[in-house]
Amino acid sequence: MAVLELPTYESVISASERIKGYAHRTPLMRSHALDKALGAEVLFKCENLQRTGSFKFRGAFNALSNLDEQHRRAGVVTYSSGNHAQAIALSASLLKIPATIIMPHDAPASKVAATKNYGGNVVIYNRYKEDRELIARGLAEDHGLKLIPPYDNPEVIAGQGTAAKEFFEDADQIDYLFVSLGGGGLLAGSALSARALAPECKLYGVEPEAGNDGQRSFRSGAIVYIDTPRTIADGAQTQHLGEYTFPIIHSYVDDILTVKDEQLVDCMRLFASRMKLVVEPTGCLGLAASYDMRTLVQGKRIGVIISGGNIDLDRYGTLLVQGL
Ligand SMILES: *Cc1c(COP(=O)(O)O)cnc(C)c1O
Repeated sequence: MAVLELPTYESVISASERIKGYAHRTPLMRSHALDKALGAEVLFKCENLQRTGSFKFRGAFNALSNLDEQHRRAGVVTYSSGNHAQAIALSASLLKIPATIIMPHDAPASKVAATKNYGGNVVIYNRYKEDRELIARGLAEDHGLKLIPPYDNPEVIAGQGTAAKEFFEDADQIDYLFVSLGGGGLLAGSALSARALAPECKLYGVEPEAGNDGQRSFRSGAIVYIDTPRTIADGAQTQHLGEYTFPIIHSYVDDILTVKDEQLVDCMRLFASRMKLVVEPTGCLGLAASYDMRTLVQGKRIGVIISGGNIDLDRYGTLLVQGL
């Protein structure tokens, strides 16, 4: 069996050099109301204000800017209905690389439109009848394209790690960091940065309760596979951690926590009313978990990565006004 070459903090440093001038160094924000409610000092890393509206731009741009000449010419392919699609489409257009994005026939029209707008060549598939990974591999083989998966890739993980790298450079003495968890690209990358820059900081991944495969994998020591979970946190509707993300998470993360969808809606309201921030449900995982950990974080300095802010406006309005 081939031994996987896992990314390291050195890979995160290289990624941060490559994305410089392309990705935003997103701001840290605070809210006195939220500090008071939690009894802690809370610093938010605002990746909802990143290009394309989520941290995914970091990993996508890093992976694409590291392609060899042959793949730059032939192009890349990926599958995603969400933020990774937009991140690949914009990165590819900035780097003048052709990009094919495989999206399900029932993907929200706004996401398909955004991906096309960024210059992506969208291929629609039927999610009930076809296998997107097979389609992607077929296209990759037939046309010599490079497949860039949404999380299980060393360059993607290293790119995602730049958000926490910036966070720890801009904020010191952080006791706890809370990070949204889907397939684990963001959490694994954050772990590389946290262990290098803030070895004492406790690091928690947070996933929706309905999709607690990450927690079960972490606690059992082997990757657990589940059916697509039903949750409003669509960025975390993954079925399993990855071959690259799992070992990093298992070695460096302190625990994986879960929260309920209702808590995500409460946090969307808090972000809107207290901080004037539009945050998508998946972006609320970290804050929701830190509320659950209120007694533990009393008097501490904590960090929360707000992972993204992409949500259809009518859906956003409905969730804020009517709830689930
Ligand atoms: C993709 C995504 C996540 C999960 O990231 P992984 O790297 O798959 O763990 C969390 N939040 C948002 C907004 C996302 O787009």
